[in-house]
Amino acid sequence: MEDHFINWDREADVVIVGYGFAGGISAITAHDAGARVLLLEKMPHPGGISILSGGGVAFARNAEGAFTYLKRTCNGTTPDEVLWPLAEGMVEIIDRIKALAKVSGTEPAQSEVRGHGTYPFPGTGDIDSVKLKDFPAYSAFPWAKGLRGGARLFKMVSDNVQLRKIEVLLSAPAKRLITNPEGQVQGLAAESDGKEIAIRARKGVILACGGFENNAMMKLQYFEAQPVYPVYLGNTGDGILMAQKAGAALWHMWHFHGGYGFKYPEFPFAIRHVWAGPRKDDRKMIWIAVDRFGRRFMDEYPPAPQDTGSRPLEYYDADLQDYPRIPCYLIFDEEGRKLGPVGMVIVNDERYHYKWSEDNLTEVERDWIIKEKTINEIAAKIKVNPEVLNSTVERWNSLCAVGRDADFNRPPKTMMPIANPPFYAMEAWPIVSNTQGGPVHDPRQRVLDPMGNPIPRLYVAGEISSIFGHLYLEAGNITECFIGGTIAGKNAAEESPWE
Ligand SMILES: Cc1cc2nc3c(=O)[nH]c(=O)nc-3n(C[C@H](O)[C@H](O)[C@H](O)COP(=O)(O)OP(=O)(O)OC[C@H]3O[C@@H](n4cnc5c(N)ncnc54)[C@H](O)[C@@H]3O)c2cc1C
Repeated sequence: MEDHFINWDREADVVIVGYGFAGGISAITAHDAGARVLLLEKMPHPGGISILSGGGVAFARNAEGAFTYLKRTCNGTTPDEVLWPLAEGMVEIIDRIKALAKVSGTEPAQSEVRGHGTYPFPGTGDIDSVKLKDFPAYSAFPWAKGLRGGARLFKMVSDNVQLRKIEVLLSAPAKRLITNPEGQVQGLAAESDGKEIAIRARKGVILACGGFENNAMMKLQYFEAQPVYPVYLGNTGDGILMAQKAGAALWHMWHFHGGYGFKYPEFPFAIRHVWAGPRKDDRKMIWIAVDRFGRRFMDEYPPAPQDTGSRPLEYYDADLQDYPRIPCYLIFDEEGRKLGPVGMVIVNDERYHYKWSEDNLTEVERDWIIKEKTINEIAAKIKVNPEVLNSTVERWNSLCAVGRDADFNRPPKTMMPIANPPFYAMEAWPIVSNTQGGPVHDPRQRVLDPMGNPIPRLYVAGEISSIFGHLYLEAGNITECFIGGTIAGKNAAEESPWE
């Protein structure tokens, strides 16, 4: 097969766009299958969201259980034939991680095992998750401030990329795919050193460049709630747009992994509240959330607070012609204020750094947290009717007294009254950790067009095209980066090269 003539500046067998977990694993796999790989990263540093993550990796004890669980989690939005390779890969993933971790002198930590998936669906008991054992990884990435588990896992991936001497181009955003008149992908155009270069992909291109969490127009078009603020700035949907131009169909575009959190003009990114991971309902959550009328409206601590935590905020009031829960307000008291930081800054960008204070007092001084002696004064500051806010707080305190949230079913042990002045309020917004929607792919990670036909030589891996179309499986995104990256890397490397 001959490619359409272009003045190519560079070439590789497999060109991979984006250097997070999905791009790194795709690169390692394609290299190990004999391909010469070029890995492009848009930002000055690699890691994407991956380096900021908790580093939890979901695995399965048997594929049938995992498949049953995944099918329910996806609620019909993802074909069985795509879910099976993930379910089967989940059985083998610990061995894969063990092999990769040896290079970094570490191994998976059995102590992190929790015994189930996120939701009580059939198959949940067959699913679990692990992290890597602690090892000195974090100092390797001084530009990234996130959760330590993700940095450890990313160190493992980057150690393996370096060991194989895989070529990485940083500050090199891919701009568009180059296809021939038959629609076959021949390579791509990227920016490097301020110039546009044409890179030939002799076998194929893998798009592993994350979702669209920092693309305002795409969020406006696909999300119900507005605005939804991102944690990571580098993912602007570039790969989704490139794939669309090449003819890709899209799936799961509405679905994002997100909770509620904070946004301040000092930083272009959002700050998550500290409650993440699967629900551990034996500790006090200090706040209740109230809408713009001062009414409570949600269980503030759903089973996976960073999965569905944002969804109750999405309610649109047609009479009001507005979203009465955007922003909402977190209300707590002096006892709560002392129980530890409310927010945690997670950022992969050397331009920014902020450490939230342990007692939240620096944030009070910054006016990020409103402090007042009475609930009436809090109501005045957040512009709600004081009678409504007082009655919301009184109702909450009465529920705490009986130890049961009859209104929204929040787990009893997380409840604590709001009774000791001074009182505090924080503005909170929907936050996207990562999006799940993107180009439809088949079991081989090939991108499909709307008629279900593969776009020749175009693959995807990771959050650019997640299988999760309804509910997130905690630790499942990294799992799909590893399994999807492995499948994409292998299949791209096995393509016959252009002459
Ligand atoms: C705080 C936090 C904690 C999390 N914890 C977990 C967890 O414990 N377990 C779990 O499973 N999931 C977790 N997640 C989700 C998970 O981290 C992500 O879904 C996953 O890491 C995404 O990996 P990725 O490789 O697809 O994307 P990314 O890691 O975001 O990598 C994409 C890369 O592509 C680059 N890029 C974008 N556009 C271009 C372009 N045009 N050209 C070149 N490069 C480009 C980006 O800069 C980025 O580096 C968490 C997320 C957050 C925010």
